[in-house]
Amino acid sequence: MTMSTEHPVIAVRDITKIYGEGDTQVRALRGINLDIAVGEYVAIMGASGSGKSTLMHIIGCLDVPTGGRYLLDGLDVSKLDDFALSVVRNRKIGFVFQSFNLIPRTSAFSNVELPMVYANVPKAERQERALAALEKVGLGNRGDAFPNQLSGGQQQRVAIARAIATNPAMILADEPTGALDSTSTGEVLELFEGLNHEGRTVIVITHEPDVAERAGRLIRLRDGLVVEDTGHPSGASVGAVAAAAAAAHIAPAGPGLSAAGLPRSSGRDGQ
Ligand code: ADP
Ligand code: MG
Repeated sequence: MTMSTEHPVIAVRDITKIYGEGDTQVRALRGINLDIAVGEYVAIMGASGSGKSTLMHIIGCLDVPTGGRYLLDGLDVSKLDDFALSVVRNRKIGFVFQSFNLIPRTSAFSNVELPMVYANVPKAERQERALAALEKVGLGNRGDAFPNQLSGGQQQRVAIARAIATNPAMILADEPTGALDSTSTGEVLELFEGLNHEGRTVIVITHEPDVAERAGRLIRLRDGLVVEDTGHPSGASVGAVAAAAAAAHIAPAGPGLSAAGLPRSSGRDGQ
């Protein structure tokens, strides 16, 4: 895992995103500024349409902003072509989606193995890592199962195994528990916590306040703008920041580095 503490792993500067043109134009992001450090566990909340998924797509290099700058691990991704972006995605980021996005009629094992096929990981190593990832999510004995033979919670755990098999430094999850019951939600959140304690940066988009509560930092969007940011690391995920710092052999950032100094929103529910 790459551990860099010289700069935030994510530095977003005045990012805008406009979809469409003319009358049908939608300004999905209207000037987002954000720094996320290695090892943070961040929840992003906001009403439907506030720009959460758009922001995640940009952070995850699945899409590019209309304006502004985005540095991922110090790298200006706006300067990368599609191929380079796909390499960055594959190496650095593990994605988890609400609808699991597993390939049907393909075993859990093969689903987990697939990103490593694209990353040209040799077969023996690929299989070893796929098995290890499935074991990590408690499904080491279900590798032969097809997605439709698994519960929603199990399918999401397969998706998490797929996300971590490439050993990414960052996990991006868009409403990962939105389709799950409370037991499965708990299991997924426990996995995220474990990954965060290993020093991985975890960013979770959610509508559920109790899911957001587990994160060390809350960022709230409204109409394409950040309206609340509890900053880091005072918000809690201190253990992970310390772990990341220890891994990088530096002193953990103290509470003096917290507070983002942004206005708190005065309410709105967990949307
Ligand atoms: P959220 O994830 O918070 O619900 P989104 O980022 O999906 O919000 O959407 C933000 C705004 O951008 C919404 O008004 C949405 O309709 C619009 N939007 C999202 N994706 C597209 C797209 N591909 N084309 C046009 N408009 C889009
Ligand atoms: Mg969304």
